[in-house]
Formats: sequence, C-alpha cells, structure tokens
Amino acid sequence: MNRWGGSKRGTGDVAVETRQCPHCKAEMTYKGADGKTTYSCAVMVTIPGVYDGGLYILCPYCNGRWHRFPEGHPLRERAAPYVDEQ
Ligand SMILES: [Zn+2]
Repeated sequence: MNRWGGSKRGTGDVAVETRQCPHCKAEMTYKGADGKTTYSCAVMVTIPGVYDGGLYILCPYCNGRWHRFPEGHPLRERAAPYVDEQ
C-alpha cells in the first residue's frame, strides 16, 4: 500500500471529503506558511493495481477510513473492501 498524503490545493479549495474525519471528527485542514493556502492532512490511499490514484481517505489521527467517491461510483465499489474492512 502506497500513501501520498496531504492533498495540496489552492486557497479554500480543499475537497470537502478531506476536511473532517467522520470517525474522530478531527479537523483535517490547516493553513500553510503563507497563511492563505489551505491544506488537508487527510491521507489519500493508493492501491497499486486497483486504481492509480487516491482510492479512499485515511485519517492520520485515528486510522479511520472513508470513501472519497460517491454512492454508485464504480471506484467506490473497488474501494469498499478496503474501507469496510476496518
Ligand atoms: Zn479520525
């Protein structure tokens, strides 16, 4: 399992699904050194051979996992075995 953490996006542009952990309710966003750029410390987990990108989201505090893809999305089904095994 490879991990690439901290989705780095522009100001106020952190994806809504990476803003808060649904398990421990920890706030995932924080401001960068410039005081403007918002980052998320939520970890996008990549499963090589399944999907060459972030398949689901992992909380660095409680190790809880949750989906990034909406219900009915084909990649949500592929992520389900990993997200639901917790
Ligand atoms: Zn958490």
